[in-house]
Amino acid sequence: MNSSYYDALSQRNPAFDGIFLYAVTTTGVFCRPTCKSRRPLERNVRFFADPAAARAAGFRACKRCRPDDTNFDAQPEWLAQACRFLEAAEATPTLDELADHVGVSRAHLQRSFTRAVGVSPKRYAATLREARLRTSLRNGATVSEATYASGFGSSSRVYDAASVKIGMTPASYRRGASGLTVAYGITPSALGPVLIAATERGICHVALGDDEDVLERELRASFPKATLERSDDRVESAASALVRYLASEGPWPQLPLDVRATAFQARVWEALTHLAPGSTTTYGELAAALGDPRATRAVARACATNPVALLIPCHRVIAKNGDVRGYRWGIERKIRLLDIERSAS
Ligand SMILES: [Zn+2]
Repeated sequence: MNSSYYDALSQRNPAFDGIFLYAVTTTGVFCRPTCKSRRPLERNVRFFADPAAARAAGFRACKRCRPDDTNFDAQPEWLAQACRFLEAAEATPTLDELADHVGVSRAHLQRSFTRAVGVSPKRYAATLREARLRTSLRNGATVSEATYASGFGSSSRVYDAASVKIGMTPASYRRGASGLTVAYGITPSALGPVLIAATERGICHVALGDDEDVLERELRASFPKATLERSDDRVESAASALVRYLASEGPWPQLPLDVRATAFQARVWEALTHLAPGSTTTYGELAAALGDPRATRAVARACATNPVALLIPCHRVIAKNGDVRGYRWGIERKIRLLDIERSAS
């Protein structure tokens, strides 16, 4: 399977439905990869991880393929219940117990949960267990401290890796971040304007673009219920570390992150932080390294949904044939970024 997004849309490959959306700059419309519309020229295509991002960039949904009907945000209530049940359970419930608890069939539970969360209920429970164990071993945390709340503001950090902290919240978490204050600043860099946003706990959003207004709109779309405050001072140290790195004048910045992730995203993003500057890997290699060589698509989707450009270095993942394709912040920018890293190392 060729993992290039443009090839995927050229072939209307259904395997990529739900993994990315594409927008056509000449029509202002965004589509699913499977849309029957006329195939756009590659130079007129932009890729997005979800409808909100495409809309924030000024595109509207195609009436033909209805990209809003994808499963991006349409997770049923029982899925949230299943996540909460797994999170609260002392011992891992069986699939039957879980299905009974949320009132859906065993087969439907297994299939829909895995599709929405990226891992099976069993694997999700195992990840929670491992994380709890790690947390309590390291910090002497109580069970309540190691219990994951479903809200953004109160989610526990569970991946306390040396280089990066990735918090994990249930996949059912809905966008919003109500009650949260997010400070942000925009700074020029070798890759154009960079928007950096942070909560009190760490950096929650880094985006690259050509247009500051678009970057601000995308931030607002990612945290629609949060209070956003422009404060270049608050993010100044992170911004200057990134700018120096991109100018090959400073080391790879290791900064605390405050991001939401499903169990699977947390595993992928954590793995990405171990890729050294100047190195690259493929989606397939990354899936194999995570113990599931068949999860290439899910890995590609986790990369495409990375909310923190650069600091979670999804740009270091390329297609199997060596092509640099599929970057949330533009393929040209990904190529330039890899060039900068290769020549510096
Ligand atoms: Zn369409």
